[in-house]
Formats: sequence, C-alpha cells, structure tokens
Amino acid sequence: MLDVNVFDENMEKISEAFGARWTDKRSEVYYEHVNHIPKEAFEDICKGWIKQSSSFPKIADLLRSWHDWRDANRNKTISGIEKSDCKECGGEGYLYGIKEGHGYPYETMFYCAKCRNARNRNQAVDKRRFTKEQIIDLGYQLSDGNGRIISAERDWI
Ligand SMILES: [Zn+2]
Repeated sequence: MLDVNVFDENMEKISEAFGARWTDKRSEVYYEHVNHIPKEAFEDICKGWIKQSSSFPKIADLLRSWHDWRDANRNKTISGIEKSDCKECGGEGYLYGIKEGHGYPYETMFYCAKCRNARNRNQAVDKRRFTKEQIIDLGYQLSDGNGRIISAERDWI
C-alpha cells in the first residue's frame, strides 16, 4: 500500500505547481482511490504530471497514468526482475540440447551460464549452469526447446 506520507508529499508538490489547494478532505478522497499504486510508480506519475500537464489531476487522471505506467513497465511489475540481454540464450535464461539415449533422442533443459535471467523460476531443478560449448562437449546437439536441432556446428564462434 502506498505510504500516506509519500502520497501527501507528492500531492502537495502537484498542488503547489498548479496553485491548487490541498485539503485534508481532498487528500482523504484521493488517497482512497490511489493507495494501491506502488511508491515508485506514484512518484514517477506525479513528476510526469507536473512536467507534462497544465492543470491539477482528477482522480481518473492519476489512475489513467498508473495504467500507462504499468503498461510501460510490465517487466518490472510482473516478475520484479528485469531480464538482461544475453547473446548466449537470447535472453530467456535457458538453453536446450538433444542427445541420443536408450535408443531415442531426448531433450534436456540447461540454465544459461552467461546470464541470470532464469533465476526466478523452478528453484528445485539442478542449478548448474552451462554455455553452448559445454552442452556440446557433453555430447548434445543444441535445440530450440521444442525438439528441433538448431545447430550441429560450432558456427557462433
Ligand atoms: Zn543467457
């Protein structure tokens, strides 16, 4: 829940910027409608409002800004973690390999050794991390996670 002091502090800045009166009654009504907005988002929204708008925001304006903020920051709000770019795995955090065993090919999932993008999921599985090279050294052919071989060569080196 949004800290009421953070809320008041930011709303007072907006009031000042637009020459509006910030009363206890107004504060109470606004707070009731926006207290679910996370602190980081609320501060961004208020700063943005002062910069870009020409009048004091209605409650609906703040809520619309919150929806826009959430859309623009979807990766932050869903996982709490931003994924880094990774050339090794394409940013997913996983690599796959196919190997012949017991007479048929089977596919194995590996954690990428060059990023930490997979850190949040499936904590129970083996946490050892591999590069493409190491997976090939183990006798696998690299695959796409759907049973298709993507490269039998070391052509990325
Ligand atoms: Zn990676």
